[in-house]
Amino acid sequence: MSDVPETAHTPDEFTINCLSDLVSMQTVTNTSNLGIIDYLEERLAPLGGEMHRSYDETGTKANLLVRLGPRTGPGLMLSGHTDVVPVAGQQWSTDPWTLRREADRLYGRGACDMKGYLACMVTVVETLARTAGLESLPGPLYLAFSYDEEIGTRGVQGLIAQFGELGYSAELCVVGEPTRMQVGAGHKSILQGTCTVTGSEAHSSLEPEAANALYGAARLITRLEEMEIAREADGPFDRRYGVPHSTVHAAVVEAGVALNIVPRTARFGFEFRCIPGEDPRDLLGEVRGFGEREVLPALSRRASAADIDWTVDIEGPGLDMADDDPAVARVMAAADAAAPVRMPYATEAGRFQLAGIPAVLCGPGNIEQAHKPDEYITLGDLARCERFLRTLLAAPPGATPPGATR
Ligand SMILES: [Zn+2]
Repeated sequence: MSDVPETAHTPDEFTINCLSDLVSMQTVTNTSNLGIIDYLEERLAPLGGEMHRSYDETGTKANLLVRLGPRTGPGLMLSGHTDVVPVAGQQWSTDPWTLRREADRLYGRGACDMKGYLACMVTVVETLARTAGLESLPGPLYLAFSYDEEIGTRGVQGLIAQFGELGYSAELCVVGEPTRMQVGAGHKSILQGTCTVTGSEAHSSLEPEAANALYGAARLITRLEEMEIAREADGPFDRRYGVPHSTVHAAVVEAGVALNIVPRTARFGFEFRCIPGEDPRDLLGEVRGFGEREVLPALSRRASAADIDWTVDIEGPGLDMADDDPAVARVMAAADAAAPVRMPYATEAGRFQLAGIPAVLCGPGNIEQAHKPDEYITLGDLARCERFLRTLLAAPPGATPPGATR
């Protein structure tokens, strides 16, 4: 699907300027994000409220949680991550860290995923503070800015813990990942890891005396492929998803040092993305069990130190909100959306739901433009997001659909 230019709908110049500031900060995951956190704090400080940082163990990365407006009443949270994926190895037409405007598009790393949403958050709230005032809100407004989202939604866990410790509560959290302003009520869970098979080495002419770790790894990878094929054929299925079953994937294989040496170690990456009702840990258990029963005994007969080790590197819960949940209905109304959709990628929203905060995805930009060279967002999408946030914030408490709980 191509983006339709919407030059008739242009965002606030303040939003574009804010996005330009945010893009200029090179917040690639795993580097310090304290510059952008300082910027957001300075920018939001004049609005009053409370600011809380939660740091990672190195102290070089932080989440920022801001509470604005009234202290009591139904809480609303807007949430986004501050980190972006690297540009290394990508062919950009111009400097990825300088926002470039061309026709109805704004180019820059993070413009789509997801600094466009952050810029809308900041300027819509600033505008509301200048006009009706934040005390006019029906309850507390929380702005959440996280780190390390792109490597397993790691950072936001500290923010969610702090949110609970402070006694805060929210009846809705809108995570503004790029959905082209569609309303995402679900996404799959994810587990990514590394398997290391250990055998023993020998001159390749003495193969029978050694335990070839690559053969062991190959059998495990074939097992993963069989698990994938079984799910494609027999499910379980959730037809609300584009790929309507859990997926099993293997990639990045390393084994051996030379062709004339039996490889002592072999390593590969694996990934499970599960629909609601399936647990990635169960899929891991399945392939682990196969390894213990069918692969390890053969390796152990030739090498006493033979081993199969499974490491979980990234794990994130799925999001599964009912289509008729009041939180979903509220976002649908504000976004003027037709029907909720299910997203193929994992986000922080699953972690919010797991913590008891109803979470919904809705943000500007198309995920197809994310993570790529010449990443862009359209002016029309930014303008739609501003309208959405203004409507969401303006909705009086009575506009919350019946059944919503505090
Ligand atoms: Zn993102």
